[in-house]
Amino acid sequence: MSLMGQMMNMPLMISSLLTHAARHNGDVEIVSKRVEGDMHHTTWSEVELRSRKLAQALARLGCQAGDRVGTLAWNGYRHLEIYYGSSGSELVCHTVNPRLFPQQIAWIINDAQDKVLFVDINLLPLVEKLITSLPKVEAVILMAGREHMPRETSIPKLLCYEDLIEAEDGQYSWPSFDENTAACICYTSGTTGNPKGAVYSHRSTVLHAFAAAIPEGMCLHATDTVLPVVPMFHVNAWGIPYVAALIGCKLVFPGHHLDGASLFNLFEQEQVTISAGVPTIWLGLLNHVKQNNLKFSSFRSTIIGGAACPPTMIRAFENDYNVEVIHAWGMTELSPIGTLGRLKAKHKDLPLVQKQKILEKQGKSVYGIDMRIVDAEGQVLPWDGKASGDLEVRGHWVISSYFNVDKSPLHDGWFPTGDVATIDSDGYMQITDRSKDVIKSGGEWISSIDLENVAMGHPAVHEAAVIAAHHPKWDERPLLVVVKKPDAQVTREELLAFYDGKIPKWQVPDDVVFVTEIPHTATGKIYKLGLREQFKDHTLPTS
Ligand code: AMP
Repeated sequence: MSLMGQMMNMPLMISSLLTHAARHNGDVEIVSKRVEGDMHHTTWSEVELRSRKLAQALARLGCQAGDRVGTLAWNGYRHLEIYYGSSGSELVCHTVNPRLFPQQIAWIINDAQDKVLFVDINLLPLVEKLITSLPKVEAVILMAGREHMPRETSIPKLLCYEDLIEAEDGQYSWPSFDENTAACICYTSGTTGNPKGAVYSHRSTVLHAFAAAIPEGMCLHATDTVLPVVPMFHVNAWGIPYVAALIGCKLVFPGHHLDGASLFNLFEQEQVTISAGVPTIWLGLLNHVKQNNLKFSSFRSTIIGGAACPPTMIRAFENDYNVEVIHAWGMTELSPIGTLGRLKAKHKDLPLVQKQKILEKQGKSVYGIDMRIVDAEGQVLPWDGKASGDLEVRGHWVISSYFNVDKSPLHDGWFPTGDVATIDSDGYMQITDRSKDVIKSGGEWISSIDLENVAMGHPAVHEAAVIAAHHPKWDERPLLVVVKKPDAQVTREELLAFYDGKIPKWQVPDDVVFVTEIPHTATGKIYKLGLREQFKDHTLPTS
């Protein structure tokens, strides 16, 4: 008979991250550029107190265990208080992406059955338009002080956040309950079909925070100042609000000001050391610093994921600005972290170029995530860096089912990610493509990411996307869509010639189109579906 461990069985509670931060790093600052336009300074201990008051206020509003609390908000301290105040009191924090189409926002809020909805002041008009189609929302709470309450509104019950907090005494103890209880819901972007809800538990969220915090993860220190550019509505800002509490470091929230100039100023003003976000955001910041001949004085490292990070972006950060880039891969269904680009001990003495090649990949699994690649028949493929197949994962913070969906998404106990990847013998995973975006040319697959990465290396290219265009003989051939840098000149022929020697000849795109803008999804990825639609009648010169 087994001998049982004799350790305390304390459930992993999200509130414990916050109480730890308040007790041990209570005076550490949390700075927010508010939607109201000013800067706001608070501390972990103040956030903890106000989160307790918020938990009391939510109970007073009639919220009960399991009720969903929606947010339509940017990154800021009040959003952080809602994260902890709701999850910590056994409610479920549901962050909604305000960049989605209004009908999708309504659909998501109704699917999750949000009982109350918190909203930032500049998103109130959106909620006013939608309110009649949100029958389950009993109250909307404006995340501001009384002075920002509108005189008139179409919302039947509009409450003031600061009034709610002020009315409570904070005499509240965080409850302890089953660690498998739901803590938050995030919906996938749903570019094809309706979005689906991933329901994270307290346990999965705390374990994810541990894994993200370690040196092989985001490598945050208590001495760091972290600015999540990634929105708090995109997979919980990749877990940073929890990791920062666990570590006890300073947090800086940028509100909705994500352009290059605003970010640079905030980075400098608050002496930010670490950040995280999708590649498109960094394009804006890098352009701004380059054009204005600026240098960062404190920024040391950034996590880039959500879409493939072009190697030229990694080089620009590292060579020109001395900022380390950690390329990461993840998904909403993974809370989100799956892999991170980190070297192994045996790579220490490799020449720089070889190290760089390794770090350009999406990286190796963090502890807690297992992965494999399978072929079309579900057969497991070797880790040889060549075989490419459907990427499947399992682990402590991977969903086992979607909210309100009966059919299991799992295949043989694994979650199929929808990504196509290779894994090399050292366990480094490289995404070839989203399976829907791979270009299937005469039975051979071409990675759109590889072709985009090459184009992004051309000095005249601001942003590049490669999509499949119809070809009468090969079925699909790559079409390169390019946004030029301001004032840059480059021709179709020059761009195609730029591929010479960098990829096999048969993979070179068949054509180039220049556009003024490439569309992006609500989470900042290139909107390939929209681009394919836009160019569905494009006639390739090779047809
Ligand atoms: P989301 O659920 O919105 O975070 O999107 C997850 C998807 O984004 C993944 O399945 C990938 O297709 C893509 N993705 C995330 N990180 C990367 C990365 N580093 N490289 C390539 N694709 C990525």
